[in-house]
Amino acid sequence: MSFAKRFFGHLHTINTHRFLVMKTCFKCGMYAQGLLHDLSKYSFSEFWPSVTYFQGDRSPISKEKQVKGYSQCWLHHKGRNKHHWEYWTDRLGSDTKLSCIEMPFRYMLESVIDRISASKVYKKEKYTQAEPYDFFVNSKEIHVMNPKTVEQISYLLKYLKENGEEKALTYYKSLYKEHKYDQTITFHS
Ligand SMILES: [Zn+2]
Repeated sequence: MSFAKRFFGHLHTINTHRFLVMKTCFKCGMYAQGLLHDLSKYSFSEFWPSVTYFQGDRSPISKEKQVKGYSQCWLHHKGRNKHHWEYWTDRLGSDTKLSCIEMPFRYMLESVIDRISASKVYKKEKYTQAEPYDFFVNSKEIHVMNPKTVEQISYLLKYLKENGEEKALTYYKSLYKEHKYDQTITFHS
């Protein structure tokens, strides 16, 4: 694939994703997070490897991992973007393993919106309101994530699956208004 095709292809992917996340965040009253979402993707350290490993139909990060065994782009991205649970990992005290810290409420909610937007782009016309939940509960990542974060994301995506987007976003908006600065939230189902 030509350089120009990869360059503009990747630029288009980022812009489309950011626009979708922004629109959805705004509907939830999350203005700052909507505007700032994934901005680091325009940095040289993320943009350049993504152009190099651009695929068109799947993430350049997977391709970079396949080729190099790790992705420079992803390491840069997850270290700067709090809506990824991988940002919230550290070795605590004298532990001999990494721990996943519970994501603060507002970043957990941003990750829910990120997941919904990614599902839409990935599934295109086959997207249904059940897709983000079904994908998440069948993913491998839930086995490594903080269990409380898994519980919260599952609850919010299940709400979308059962009630549809309009109702779900109204619900998320009310939660955001009330819990914006809270560290955690407990849902009673
Ligand atoms: Zn991101």
